[in-house]
Amino acid sequence: MLIDNHNRTINYLRLAVTDRCNLRCNYCMPAEGIRFAKRETLLTLDELSILSTLMVEQGIDKIRITGGEPFVRKDLMGLVKHLASLDGLGDISITTNATLIGPHIETLKELGIRHINVSLDAVQRETFGRITRRDQYDTVFSNLNRLISEDFNVRINFIVLEGQNIEDILPILELQKNHPVSVRFLEEMPFNGGSKNFDRITWNYEKILDYITKAYPDVERLSSPETSTSINYKIKGHKGSFGLIPSFSRTFCGSCNRLRITATGDVITCLYGKPKLNIREIMRGPDREANLRSAIGEAIGSRARTGFEAQREHEGVFENSMTSIGG
Ligand code: SAM
Repeated sequence: MLIDNHNRTINYLRLAVTDRCNLRCNYCMPAEGIRFAKRETLLTLDELSILSTLMVEQGIDKIRITGGEPFVRKDLMGLVKHLASLDGLGDISITTNATLIGPHIETLKELGIRHINVSLDAVQRETFGRITRRDQYDTVFSNLNRLISEDFNVRINFIVLEGQNIEDILPILELQKNHPVSVRFLEEMPFNGGSKNFDRITWNYEKILDYITKAYPDVERLSSPETSTSINYKIKGHKGSFGLIPSFSRTFCGSCNRLRITATGDVITCLYGKPKLNIREIMRGPDREANLRSAIGEAIGSRARTGFEAQREHEGVFENSMTSIGG
């Protein structure tokens, strides 16, 4: 079992498989992209498989595959197959922009992968094109509809962006009105590409809730698992639900159960802090399993108590893009 220095059990690994993405969401990275990692610095499929096996042996029972866009990695499904074979891994999920998932939907179903998070910050075609800087609207909505009709447990993550997609907040709720999906609204974080303001955010979770409840006053708060980062609600008569994720306000640190490993092997014990170590050389050296166990144990043993504490490791804005960290 992995337990941190604040007595929090770590059982959830967010594993990034690439830092590359085929979209250029304007709050995530600049139009020209970032300096993407060189191929030889990415963990190989074998390394990702060995690492995930070891992490599950250590008590990780939930792995979310993320990126970059996970499906730009050609060998992704090899990793998914490996994860699906691991006893003890109760929950495998994937976070995607839904542009490239189409050809894999059948195999995902066969492998028993049920949980797919789709990042989607627009309903209107024009808004989608402006935010993502790519022409993928039809593909995304067609794949999203397929995922819903094939009974995946779909969660839509929508970043609320002042001056960009406020008019799409109520329209995106239509998805959860008509289908059993969850639409989660996230506060924007001051990462590379996005807003640069560390001190305040215009659309915090309280303002988002206020905006929604003006249109839908009949809202009931749902109970959520202790480690959930979202505060969840049901609108009377709607099939699904919606949630608020205070990713800027950080109300959830006390129960944080997460560890992040990036595609190049950086170990991040708090989204708001800097990487604590890189495991790539350990993976490629002698006594890899014992060395990994002790290096990861050490990193988990020195976690910041909160995202605010971890943030002090940065000067000014987070210089990183979320595409390198995995969200
Ligand atoms: N490509 C995958 C996807 O679209 O879900 C996974 C990687 S993406 C970087 C993970 C999540 O980070 C997405 O939901 C994205 O919206 C979010 N994200 C990126 N930059 C952000 C920012 N500045 N503030 C808040 N969330 C951000």
